[in-house]
Amino acid sequence: CFRRAFEMEMEIRIRAISEQLQQVQQTLEKLDQSKSDFIAVAAHELKTPLTLVDGYAAMLRDALSTRNLSPYEIDLLNGIHNGTRRLKTIIDDMIDVSLIDNNLLSLNFQPVWINRILHVLENELQGVIKERQQTLTIQDFPGSGEMTFGDPERLLQVFRNVLTNAIKYTPDGGSISVDGRKLPGFIEVIIKDTGIGIDPEDQLLIFDKFARLGKTDLHSSSKTKFKGGGPGLGLHIAKGIVEAHGGAIWVESPGFDEKTCPGSTFHILLPLMTQPPDEKMARLLAP
Ligand code: ADP
Repeated sequence: CFRRAFEMEMEIRIRAISEQLQQVQQTLEKLDQSKSDFIAVAAHELKTPLTLVDGYAAMLRDALSTRNLSPYEIDLLNGIHNGTRRLKTIIDDMIDVSLIDNNLLSLNFQPVWINRILHVLENELQGVIKERQQTLTIQDFPGSGEMTFGDPERLLQVFRNVLTNAIKYTPDGGSISVDGRKLPGFIEVIIKDTGIGIDPEDQLLIFDKFARLGKTDLHSSSKTKFKGGGPGLGLHIAKGIVEAHGGAIWVESPGFDEKTCPGSTFHILLPLMTQPPDEKMARLLAP
Protein backbone atom coordinates (compact mmCIF):
# COMPACT_ATOMS: atom_id res chain seq x y z
CA CYS A 1 0.00 0.00 0.00
CA PHE A 2 2.89 2.33 0.86
CA ARG A 3 4.54 1.45 -2.44
CA ARG A 4 1.37 2.22 -4.40
CA ALA A 5 1.03 5.61 -2.68
CA PHE A 6 4.68 6.35 -3.46
CA GLU A 7 4.20 5.38 -7.13
CA MET A 8 1.12 7.60 -7.40
CA GLU A 9 2.96 10.51 -5.82
CA MET A 10 5.85 10.05 -8.27
CA GLU A 11 3.46 9.85 -11.20
CA ILE A 12 1.81 13.14 -10.19
CA ARG A 13 5.18 14.82 -9.81
CA ILE A 14 6.47 13.54 -13.15
CA ARG A 15 3.28 14.72 -14.85
CA ALA A 16 3.65 18.18 -13.25
CA ILE A 17 7.30 18.41 -14.34
CA SER A 18 6.49 17.35 -17.89
CA GLU A 19 3.68 19.94 -18.05
CA GLN A 20 6.10 22.61 -16.87
CA LEU A 21 8.66 21.52 -19.45
CA GLN A 22 6.00 21.71 -22.14
CA GLN A 23 5.13 25.26 -21.04
CA VAL A 24 8.81 26.26 -21.13
CA GLN A 25 9.09 24.72 -24.61
CA GLN A 26 6.03 26.66 -25.80
CA THR A 27 7.39 29.91 -24.36
CA LEU A 28 10.73 29.31 -26.08
CA GLU A 29 8.97 28.60 -29.38
CA LYS A 30 6.94 31.82 -29.01
CA LEU A 31 10.10 33.79 -28.23
CA ASP A 32 11.84 32.32 -31.26
CA GLN A 33 8.85 33.23 -33.44
CA SER A 34 8.85 36.81 -32.07
CA LYS A 35 12.57 37.03 -32.83
CA SER A 36 11.91 35.82 -36.40
CA ASP A 37 9.03 38.30 -36.83
CA PHE A 38 11.20 41.13 -35.51
CA ILE A 39 14.02 40.24 -37.92
CA ALA A 40 11.60 40.19 -40.88
CA VAL A 41 9.99 43.54 -40.01
CA ALA A 42 13.28 45.25 -39.13
CA ALA A 43 14.93 44.05 -42.35
CA HIS A 44 12.09 45.31 -44.55
CA GLU A 45 11.91 48.66 -42.71
CA LEU A 46 15.67 49.17 -43.02
CA LYS A 47 15.86 48.25 -46.67
CA THR A 48 13.89 51.24 -48.04
CA PRO A 49 15.93 54.06 -46.43
CA LEU A 50 19.15 52.19 -47.17
CA THR A 51 18.25 51.96 -50.88
CA LEU A 52 17.67 55.74 -50.82
CA VAL A 53 21.03 56.46 -49.14
CA ASP A 54 22.75 54.17 -51.66
CA GLY A 55 21.03 55.95 -54.56
CA TYR A 56 21.90 59.45 -53.27
CA ALA A 57 25.50 58.37 -52.65
CA ALA A 58 25.77 57.12 -56.25
CA MET A 59 24.31 60.42 -57.53
CA LEU A 60 26.77 62.39 -55.40
CA ARG A 61 29.66 60.31 -56.75
CA ASP A 62 28.52 60.94 -60.34
CA ALA A 63 28.04 64.66 -59.69
CA LEU A 64 31.55 64.93 -58.24
CA SER A 65 33.22 62.77 -60.86
CA THR A 66 34.18 65.76 -63.03
CA ARG A 67 35.84 67.57 -60.12
CA ASN A 68 39.35 67.04 -58.94
CA LEU A 69 38.73 65.36 -55.56
CA SER A 70 41.43 65.07 -52.93
CA PRO A 71 42.41 61.53 -51.80
CA TYR A 72 40.64 62.29 -48.49
CA GLU A 73 37.38 63.13 -50.29
CA ILE A 74 37.69 59.98 -52.43
CA ASP A 75 38.19 57.95 -49.23
CA LEU A 76 35.03 59.48 -47.76
CA LEU A 77 32.97 58.55 -50.84
CA ASN A 78 34.41 55.03 -50.84
CA GLY A 79 33.59 54.77 -47.14
CA ILE A 80 29.91 55.56 -47.81
CA HIS A 81 29.84 53.07 -50.69
CA ASN A 82 31.45 50.23 -48.69
CA GLY A 83 29.28 50.93 -45.65
CA THR A 84 26.01 50.82 -47.60
CA ARG A 85 27.13 47.68 -49.45
CA ARG A 86 27.93 45.96 -46.14
CA LEU A 87 24.58 47.03 -44.64
CA LYS A 88 22.75 45.75 -47.73
CA THR A 89 24.39 42.32 -47.32
CA ILE A 90 23.38 42.18 -43.64
CA ILE A 91 19.77 43.18 -44.43
CA ASP A 92 19.54 40.63 -47.29
CA ASP A 93 20.86 37.98 -44.88
CA MET A 94 18.23 38.97 -42.29
CA ILE A 95 15.52 38.59 -44.94
CA ASP A 96 16.91 35.15 -45.89
CA VAL A 97 16.92 34.07 -42.23
CA SER A 98 13.26 35.03 -41.84
CA LEU A 99 12.38 33.16 -45.06
CA ILE A 100 14.22 30.05 -43.85
CA ASP A 101 12.83 30.17 -40.30
CA ASN A 102 9.27 30.56 -41.59
CA ASN A 103 9.60 27.83 -44.24
CA LEU A 104 9.09 30.42 -46.97
CA LEU A 105 12.33 29.89 -48.87
CA SER A 106 11.34 29.10 -52.43
CA LEU A 107 13.87 27.33 -54.60
CA ASN A 108 14.11 27.74 -58.32
CA PHE A 109 15.07 24.16 -59.26
CA GLN A 110 17.02 23.74 -62.48
CA PRO A 111 20.02 21.80 -63.75
CA VAL A 112 23.14 22.61 -61.73
CA TRP A 113 26.78 21.60 -62.12
CA ILE A 114 28.60 21.85 -58.79
CA ASN A 115 32.00 22.27 -60.49
CA ARG A 116 30.69 25.31 -62.37
CA ILE A 117 29.53 26.90 -59.13
CA LEU A 118 32.93 26.26 -57.56
CA HIS A 119 34.79 27.74 -60.53
CA VAL A 120 32.58 30.85 -60.55
CA LEU A 121 33.57 31.36 -56.90
CA GLU A 122 37.23 30.63 -57.66
CA ASN A 123 37.20 33.63 -60.03
CA GLU A 124 35.13 35.80 -57.71
CA LEU A 125 37.47 35.23 -54.75
CA GLN A 126 40.76 35.58 -56.69
CA GLY A 127 41.24 39.19 -55.51
CA VAL A 128 40.93 38.54 -51.79
CA ILE A 129 42.95 35.30 -52.03
CA LYS A 130 45.80 37.23 -53.66
CA GLU A 131 45.54 40.04 -51.14
CA ARG A 132 45.79 37.54 -48.26
CA GLN A 133 48.57 35.57 -50.06
CA GLN A 134 46.52 32.42 -49.59
CA THR A 135 46.09 29.55 -52.01
CA LEU A 136 42.72 28.21 -53.09
CA THR A 137 42.78 24.82 -54.82
CA ILE A 138 39.60 23.45 -56.34
CA GLN A 139 39.84 19.80 -57.43
CA ASP A 140 37.55 18.21 -59.97
CA PHE A 141 36.31 15.11 -58.17
CA PRO A 142 34.02 12.23 -59.19
CA GLY A 143 30.47 13.58 -59.35
CA SER A 144 31.42 17.27 -59.41
CA GLY A 145 30.87 17.43 -63.16
CA GLU A 146 27.51 15.62 -63.15
CA MET A 147 24.31 17.46 -63.78
CA THR A 148 22.10 17.70 -60.74
CA PHE A 149 19.02 19.76 -59.82
CA GLY A 150 18.99 22.64 -57.42
CA ASP A 151 18.75 26.40 -57.17
CA PRO A 152 22.06 27.64 -58.64
CA GLU A 153 21.90 31.11 -57.02
CA ARG A 154 21.15 29.64 -53.59
CA LEU A 155 23.84 26.95 -53.90
CA LEU A 156 26.30 29.64 -54.97
CA GLN A 157 25.35 31.50 -51.78
CA VAL A 158 26.04 28.37 -49.66
CA PHE A 159 29.51 27.78 -51.12
CA ARG A 160 30.28 31.52 -51.05
CA ASN A 161 29.45 31.70 -47.33
CA VAL A 162 31.59 28.68 -46.46
CA LEU A 163 34.52 29.71 -48.68
CA THR A 164 34.59 33.34 -47.51
CA ASN A 165 34.62 32.08 -43.92
CA ALA A 166 37.51 29.75 -44.77
CA ILE A 167 39.42 32.77 -46.14
CA LYS A 168 38.40 35.03 -43.26
CA TYR A 169 39.41 32.63 -40.48
CA THR A 170 42.68 31.48 -42.09
CA PRO A 171 45.83 33.56 -41.54
CA ASP A 172 47.60 35.25 -44.45
CA GLY A 173 49.62 32.74 -46.44
CA GLY A 174 47.34 29.82 -45.47
CA SER A 175 45.58 27.47 -47.83
CA ILE A 176 42.04 26.41 -48.64
CA SER A 177 41.24 23.33 -50.65
CA VAL A 178 38.00 22.04 -52.13
CA ASP A 179 37.63 18.35 -52.87
CA GLY A 180 34.81 15.85 -52.64
CA ARG A 181 33.48 12.44 -53.42
CA LYS A 182 30.50 10.70 -54.91
CA LEU A 183 28.34 8.58 -52.62
CA PRO A 184 25.29 6.53 -53.64
CA GLY A 185 22.72 9.19 -54.57
CA PHE A 186 24.77 12.03 -53.06
CA ILE A 187 27.70 14.27 -53.73
CA GLU A 188 29.86 15.42 -50.82
CA VAL A 189 31.90 18.59 -51.16
CA ILE A 190 34.75 18.95 -48.65
CA ILE A 191 36.17 22.41 -47.92
CA LYS A 192 39.32 22.35 -45.83
CA ASP A 193 41.21 25.33 -44.45
CA THR A 194 44.36 25.88 -42.42
CA GLY A 195 42.69 28.42 -40.15
CA ILE A 196 42.12 28.92 -36.45
CA GLY A 197 39.74 25.96 -36.10
CA ILE A 198 36.58 25.59 -34.02
CA ASP A 199 36.17 24.16 -30.52
CA PRO A 200 34.22 20.88 -30.48
CA GLU A 201 31.50 22.41 -28.27
CA ASP A 202 31.01 25.24 -30.80
CA GLN A 203 30.78 23.01 -33.87
CA LEU A 204 26.98 22.70 -33.73
CA LEU A 205 26.44 26.21 -32.35
CA ILE A 206 27.98 27.96 -35.35
CA PHE A 207 24.97 26.94 -37.47
CA ASP A 208 22.59 28.79 -35.11
CA LYS A 209 21.52 32.28 -36.09
CA PHE A 210 23.57 35.07 -34.50
CA ALA A 211 26.10 32.40 -33.50
CA ARG A 212 28.71 34.99 -32.65
CA LEU A 213 26.33 36.76 -30.30
CA GLY A 214 25.71 33.62 -28.28
CA LYS A 215 27.07 32.97 -24.82
CA THR A 216 30.39 31.77 -26.17
CA ASP A 217 30.67 34.82 -28.46
CA LEU A 218 32.69 32.54 -30.66
CA HIS A 219 35.12 34.94 -32.21
CA SER A 220 34.90 38.02 -30.08
CA SER A 221 38.06 40.09 -30.11
CA SER A 222 39.00 38.65 -26.72
CA LYS A 223 39.17 35.20 -28.25
CA THR A 224 40.73 35.97 -31.59
CA LYS A 225 42.11 38.71 -33.76
CA PHE A 226 40.21 37.20 -36.70
CA LYS A 227 37.22 39.47 -36.42
CA GLY A 228 34.57 38.36 -38.82
CA GLY A 229 32.61 41.57 -38.97
CA GLY A 230 29.43 39.64 -39.74
CA PRO A 231 26.45 39.17 -37.46
CA GLY A 232 26.73 35.38 -37.61
CA LEU A 233 24.00 34.56 -40.12
CA GLY A 234 26.01 33.04 -42.99
CA LEU A 235 26.17 29.45 -41.76
CA HIS A 236 22.57 29.46 -40.53
CA ILE A 237 21.49 30.49 -44.04
CA ALA A 238 23.82 27.91 -45.63
CA LYS A 239 22.30 25.17 -43.45
CA GLY A 240 18.73 26.29 -44.30
CA ILE A 241 19.45 26.23 -48.05
CA VAL A 242 21.30 22.90 -47.98
CA GLU A 243 18.51 21.27 -45.94
CA ALA A 244 15.89 22.70 -48.32
CA HIS A 245 17.73 20.75 -51.05
CA GLY A 246 17.51 17.57 -48.95
CA GLY A 247 21.18 17.75 -47.97
CA ALA A 248 23.28 18.31 -44.87
CA ILE A 249 26.19 20.48 -43.74
CA TRP A 250 28.56 19.93 -40.84
CA VAL A 251 32.06 20.78 -39.68
CA GLU A 252 34.99 18.91 -38.22
CA SER A 253 37.93 20.53 -36.48
CA PRO A 254 40.43 19.38 -33.84
CA GLY A 255 39.70 22.59 -31.91
CA PHE A 256 40.33 26.32 -31.78
CA ASP A 257 43.92 27.56 -31.64
CA GLU A 258 45.02 30.84 -33.16
CA LYS A 259 48.70 30.00 -32.82
CA THR A 260 48.88 26.45 -34.21
CA CYS A 261 45.92 26.87 -36.61
CA PRO A 262 44.56 23.29 -36.63
CA GLY A 263 42.09 24.15 -39.43
CA SER A 264 38.45 23.30 -40.09
CA THR A 265 36.82 21.00 -42.61
CA PHE A 266 33.29 21.75 -43.79
CA HIS A 267 31.27 18.98 -45.45
CA ILE A 268 28.31 19.75 -47.71
CA LEU A 269 26.20 16.80 -48.75
CA LEU A 270 23.76 17.29 -51.62
CA PRO A 271 21.47 14.72 -53.20
CA LEU A 272 22.32 13.89 -56.80
CA MET A 273 18.83 14.30 -58.25
CA THR A 274 18.52 13.23 -61.86
CA GLN A 275 15.37 15.25 -62.37
CA PRO A 276 13.64 18.16 -60.64
CA PRO A 277 11.74 17.09 -57.53
CA ASP A 278 8.00 16.71 -58.16
CA GLU A 279 5.57 18.72 -56.05
CA LYS A 280 5.30 16.06 -53.34
CA MET A 281 9.07 15.69 -53.07
CA ALA A 282 9.54 19.47 -53.04
CA ARG A 283 7.15 19.69 -50.12
CA LEU A 284 9.08 17.00 -48.27
CA LEU A 285 12.31 18.89 -48.85
CA ALA A 286 10.92 22.16 -47.49
CA PRO A 287 12.92 23.03 -44.36
P1 ADP B 1 30.09 35.31 -39.36
O1 ADP B 1 31.27 34.84 -40.14
O2 ADP B 1 29.38 36.48 -39.97
O3 ADP B 1 30.40 35.53 -37.92
P2 ADP B 1 28.87 32.71 -39.88
O4 ADP B 1 27.49 32.21 -39.61
O5 ADP B 1 29.35 32.64 -41.27
O6 ADP B 1 28.94 34.19 -39.34
O7 ADP B 1 29.84 31.92 -38.95
C1 ADP B 1 29.54 31.77 -37.56
C2 ADP B 1 30.81 31.60 -36.75
O8 ADP B 1 31.42 30.33 -37.07
C3 ADP B 1 31.89 32.63 -37.05
O9 ADP B 1 31.71 33.81 -36.28
C4 ADP B 1 33.14 31.89 -36.65
O10 ADP B 1 33.28 31.96 -35.24
C5 ADP B 1 32.83 30.42 -36.95
N1 ADP B 1 33.43 29.95 -38.23
C6 ADP B 1 32.79 29.81 -39.42
N2 ADP B 1 33.62 29.33 -40.37
C7 ADP B 1 34.84 29.14 -39.77
C8 ADP B 1 36.10 28.63 -40.21
N3 ADP B 1 36.30 28.23 -41.47
N4 ADP B 1 37.10 28.57 -39.31
C9 ADP B 1 36.91 28.96 -38.02
N5 ADP B 1 35.73 29.43 -37.54
C10 ADP B 1 34.70 29.53 -38.40
